[in-house]
Amino acid sequence: MITYENWHQPPFPDIPAPGGKEGSLAVLRWAYETYGDDLVYACSFGAESMVMLDLITTVYPDAHVVFLDTGLHFKETYETIDAVKERFPSLNIKLKTPELSVAEQAEKYGDELWKHQPNRCCYYRKVKPLEDTLSGATAWISGLRREQSPSRANTEVISKDERFQSVKVCPLVNWTWDDIWAHIKEEQLPYNRLHDEGYPSIGCAPCTTPSDDPHSRKGRWAAFDTKSECGLHVNLDNTNA
Ligand code: SF4
Repeated sequence: MITYENWHQPPFPDIPAPGGKEGSLAVLRWAYETYGDDLVYACSFGAESMVMLDLITTVYPDAHVVFLDTGLHFKETYETIDAVKERFPSLNIKLKTPELSVAEQAEKYGDELWKHQPNRCCYYRKVKPLEDTLSGATAWISGLRREQSPSRANTEVISKDERFQSVKVCPLVNWTWDDIWAHIKEEQLPYNRLHDEGYPSIGCAPCTTPSDDPHSRKGRWAAFDTKSECGLHVNLDNTNA
């Protein structure tokens, strides 16, 4: 079995090239046959997540799904989670909260940390909780797509993840934004209504704004020129903004 400690190139010749539903399903079948319950899907409940959950349930209906519940999400995101639970009742969905509540964080590090030190805020509210979640998992799934941003353009389907010392599986790397929406419409999947209001990428409410560029993450951390990632997929200096 491929693990972080025993990393070797996955058997790509046996996995059809990703791109479209069949390729992604083949990757997921390989991943669940290999890791089973030791595989965690870190789900944002954005548009990509709807496709991923739909594919995952056909392969492993009671898959482990974790949502990093920062305490700062839009109410529409929680409504989406409820709709997903109704559509896919077999999934094992957990909401993972940070060690400190938003109020406790404000008391300890200052009010609205996201305005002053967003990397630090992301570390406490997202990265550390995922680190804790993955400490008992061998591999995790992410919905990254190469089209999303230059920093994601070289995302591998299966890679050795130094950040969380595990194996990272990204079955949707070659899906386009249009592919995602075509699948959502075709399967009549639930989705976050904020997408209809101009939000292509939806994270915490204080750090998410609408954007007219549906292919980018420009609506995330719009007040900060250089920040486009929360730190789950790249190493950030979390001691400062
Ligand atoms: Fe904090 Fe914003 Fe990161 Fe959410 S997205 S954890 S509010 S900095």
